[in-house]
Amino acid sequence: MSESYYVIGVDMGGTNTAIGIVDARGRIFYRSKISTTDYSSGEEYAEALGAAINDLAANVKSKIKGIGMGVPNGNMNNGTIEKAANIPWAKTVTVPLAAMITSKTGFPCKLTNDANAAALGEMIYGSAKGMKDFIVITLGTGLGSGIVSNGQLVVGHDGFAGELGHVTIIRHNGRTCGCGRTGCLETYASATGVARTARELLELNPAKKSTLREIVYRPVTSEDVFEAAKKGDAIALETFDFTGKILGEALSDFVACTSPQAIILFGGLAHSGDFLLKPLQEAMDNQILNVFKGKTKIIISQLNNAEAAILGASALAWEE
Ligand SMILES: [Zn+2]
Repeated sequence: MSESYYVIGVDMGGTNTAIGIVDARGRIFYRSKISTTDYSSGEEYAEALGAAINDLAANVKSKIKGIGMGVPNGNMNNGTIEKAANIPWAKTVTVPLAAMITSKTGFPCKLTNDANAAALGEMIYGSAKGMKDFIVITLGTGLGSGIVSNGQLVVGHDGFAGELGHVTIIRHNGRTCGCGRTGCLETYASATGVARTARELLELNPAKKSTLREIVYRPVTSEDVFEAAKKGDAIALETFDFTGKILGEALSDFVACTSPQAIILFGGLAHSGDFLLKPLQEAMDNQILNVFKGKTKIIISQLNNAEAAILGASALAWEE
């Protein structure tokens, strides 16, 4: 890593793709944005993204080390995006995106899924600096995870390792998951999971007062639950207790796999403070195998949410 070089970080979201030029200290210099979905094929998207990258990098072309991308269902082993449910042009097909971007720009390009990108971002610029064993859990619409073991991102033989959001947490009568199965962790521990829990609790406790009942013109969101919890709303507090407990128990199991120094929580829901952390830590301490007790820290990501995804993706380009 050298001060005088730059990398390009690309964060492909469900709506927009954000692009940034990043230096070795993790400062983002230039930014740009294109639509993710306005294209009928991967080739069209790659054409647009390649053009945007070439524009952005025009003045520093000789100093660019490469491009790193965080993409939904990104496969680090072969640089493809494979059956990404929310990306129309990649829904049913496998697109060799990294190779396409290299051919449009001339820069080497690597990609991985968004949670793995977040893990790399934490390792190079964030809370996991200097750590060799940690897990990043991204708490967004779903639950993603990036596992680093012995200083290496765990990707598995097929490139898809670390799908902790789809570990079955409720074996019988669990919630239906977007993956087509039931009882997955992300149906409980995610922004959508929190909203679902709150709605269930409201229905199950018709006599209990809650300001959440006043939200009638749209579905209750996890932000609503957080705001209500701050005002002491019983349903909102119970929602966080339930979510924290489920997540804490799951984390204690994850610790048994790779014995991480820390688990870093990333994403909006991670910033719910003690409402989430207290029950989470309690459940984890109660449930964890004796030999691991008190050894794994829970850390809230300090990376700026708007920048973290670009930084995380760009981190991939520094790797040899
Ligand atoms: Zn699932």
